[in-house]
Amino acid sequence: METSTQAAAADATDDAGGTGTSGEPGTAGPGAVTDAGVGTDAGAGAGAGAGAGVVAGEPPVRAPAPPSSLSPSRAGDFMQCPLLYRFRVIDRLPEKPSEAATRGTLVHAVLERLFDAPAAERTAPRAKALVPGQWDRLRQARPELVELFADDADGERAARWLAEAERLVERWFTLEDPTRLEPAERELFVEAELDSGLRLRGIIDRVDVAPTGEVRIVDYKTGKAPRPEYAEGALFQMKFYALVVWRLKRVVPRRLQLVYLGSGDVLTYDPVMADLERVERKLLALWEAIRLATETGEWRPRPTKLCGWCDHRGRCPEFGGTPPPYPLPVGGTEPQVPAQVQGTMGRD
Ligand code: SF4
Repeated sequence: METSTQAAAADATDDAGGTGTSGEPGTAGPGAVTDAGVGTDAGAGAGAGAGAGVVAGEPPVRAPAPPSSLSPSRAGDFMQCPLLYRFRVIDRLPEKPSEAATRGTLVHAVLERLFDAPAAERTAPRAKALVPGQWDRLRQARPELVELFADDADGERAARWLAEAERLVERWFTLEDPTRLEPAERELFVEAELDSGLRLRGIIDRVDVAPTGEVRIVDYKTGKAPRPEYAEGALFQMKFYALVVWRLKRVVPRRLQLVYLGSGDVLTYDPVMADLERVERKLLALWEAIRLATETGEWRPRPTKLCGWCDHRGRCPEFGGTPPPYPLPVGGTEPQVPAQVQGTMGRD
């Protein structure tokens, strides 16, 4: 397994822009886009937050380019709305940082850093005390975050935001006991190439390995747990990671665990090989649809209630806008999006 653990690694993925787990069914809204992972979205840095590394109103940091790999966040983007995927992955348009996504990044950073301390010292007060310092570090790393509270002259909104981050950190202690955990990995960047050549990549918040060798993959969410009917969608990201780990280590993770700090819930799933094979088939179909859209330049908007949080409404035809000229060469035929990759993630 590749073990580069830094957000920088994630930034090298196709995750430019966007917000990690945006568009999770059942968690629509700002809270739904908070878990890009500190390493990201995909948390601090990585995946963390909308538009990481870019500044609203300024040109894209990187030149447009065809997609070369797939992450859970971007797979989710395409399933939510192909045009959104294009704006984020092909055009690499900047997005404004959001309070929710940034708070998610901050909380991820605190939970990761807490494990630097000896087990007995991983207490809630210590974790809370890490929040201001990690917030300072985050602002230094991402100067564009200054715009989040630019209009907050008296600092009240920023204080409430920070207090909510502290509450989320404290809630974690009601769900897990870090004094009894020794993670094998934190903010683990993983990448695997399937037989088809498709590269899958992402950042796993935490990997626990039991003395027996059983692997547990853990992801923190600062939003609320989805309703039961949407749980499958929430597990898509985890099965994606499980597939990558399986491909790298030839071991099917014993457990996938989503820790929802917003609502104080823990969602677990014990995958079997058939689950991962199903996810692989779904991702291959998805990648084929992305390849066709890339070739033809046909990226159709798919309006949903999540459009309310889309930074690109002003250039979206569904809202009277006009997309920028497609920046890649066009040829081929109309894309035929397989039925199994339409709609929300998780219907595998
Ligand atoms: S506003 Fe909605 S339909 Fe338009 S690009 Fe954004 S998510 Fe897609």
